[in-house]
Amino acid sequence: MEIEIATIGGFEEVGRQMTAVRAGEDVVVFDMGLNLSQVLIHDNVETEQMHSLDLIDMGAIPDDRVMSDLEGDVQAIVPTHGHLDHIGAISKLAHRYNAPVVATPYTIELVKQQVKGENKFSVDNDLVKMDAGGTMSIGPQCELEFVNVSHSVIDAINPVLHTPEGSVVYGLDKRIDHNPVIGDPIDMERFREIGREDNGVLCYIEDCTNAGHKGRTPSESVARTHLKDTLQSIEDYDGGIVATTFSSHIARVKSLVEFAEEIGRKPVLLGRSMEKYSGTAERLDFVEFPGDLGMYGHRKSVDRTFKRIMKEGKEKFLPVVTGHQGEPRAMLTRMARGETPFELDDGDKVIFSARVIPEPTNEGQRYQAERLLKMQGARIYDEIHVSGHLREEGHYQMLDALQPQHVIPGHQDLQGFAPYVDLAESQGYAVGRDLHVTRNGNMITLVE
Ligand SMILES: [Zn+2]
Repeated sequence: MEIEIATIGGFEEVGRQMTAVRAGEDVVVFDMGLNLSQVLIHDNVETEQMHSLDLIDMGAIPDDRVMSDLEGDVQAIVPTHGHLDHIGAISKLAHRYNAPVVATPYTIELVKQQVKGENKFSVDNDLVKMDAGGTMSIGPQCELEFVNVSHSVIDAINPVLHTPEGSVVYGLDKRIDHNPVIGDPIDMERFREIGREDNGVLCYIEDCTNAGHKGRTPSESVARTHLKDTLQSIEDYDGGIVATTFSSHIARVKSLVEFAEEIGRKPVLLGRSMEKYSGTAERLDFVEFPGDLGMYGHRKSVDRTFKRIMKEGKEKFLPVVTGHQGEPRAMLTRMARGETPFELDDGDKVIFSARVIPEPTNEGQRYQAERLLKMQGARIYDEIHVSGHLREEGHYQMLDALQPQHVIPGHQDLQGFAPYVDLAESQGYAVGRDLHVTRNGNMITLVE
């Protein structure tokens, strides 16, 4: 059976991930993501109104025109998890394919919300839920399987396409976590089994994000302990404490909510995306929040909550807000600019349970937000966080478990691929032979 891989997006950047695998007549598309930094760089871009081709020109969504070179029918569009760089282009591209979107329940729910907000295209692809561990047939000879992984969003999987020539494992976004705060640990046993099956692993497409970092990525339970320790250390502070984290990081939000209560404060989630991700996770029973937990997204209800906090006493609350990257329109940045009724006083604590995404736009915005917060006397607690991506030792473990014939580094630019290429070469792979360093818009033929 002919096997071809089209590397469509996310092979020159972190963002707009998209890869297609053709096995004989059948094609499966993995991820359809957005490169948010290409959108945010322009003022006031409303992507909901924009046409796909304009967004492709901006570098915001994958240039999927290469798909016309693949001689087969798309049978499924498979986003691996709910981060925007993996699902953010579905509303702009999926309608061009006569295929269902297949993903885990939390991811499907986020896709559904995104498609609903789309104004330019009507996306009516079927949305099919499949849990980690589930399988479905792709054409007469192939099978799609979801393997549970741990990442910084719940319900993440690595999809595997089993073909008669061996498996194609799409390894984007994971950490090897044996003690996640929500959900099951990563299913390393299944990866090892897949590596030992008859035809083994034909190809492994890997996320190189942290390949240049030594050691292993700590578990989410480490970030949880760090957070607990930090909040306990300011338990007796009688002024304002504000925390921010990735809205989609439900495990972290859950920890913040729990520890707020432990130090005698009422947690409240503020900001549009806080309400969206946490509300969805609660509705789907991924997390149980206290019955009276307030979640507010609309400007008016947020301001009303801030007024209430100021009236009843800042020392009684712990607002968990958006804005960990200093995004200009997010809640924490608005607070820093004094645009909300919440007044920061000298000595008030601001907890960043996130790291700055190492990208000049983010770094600049975050720097500005921190400066503004400090001008009001705020004290900053930084980097209470663990990454969602594998480091060196995790990459060695994955190669050891899967023993792939071919490896394709992804989720980075050329510079980001370099440490992974060194690592893979130390394991016997060679660039140009079975280690395929590629760019967006390329086709790699594995079996002719
Ligand atoms: Zn991710």
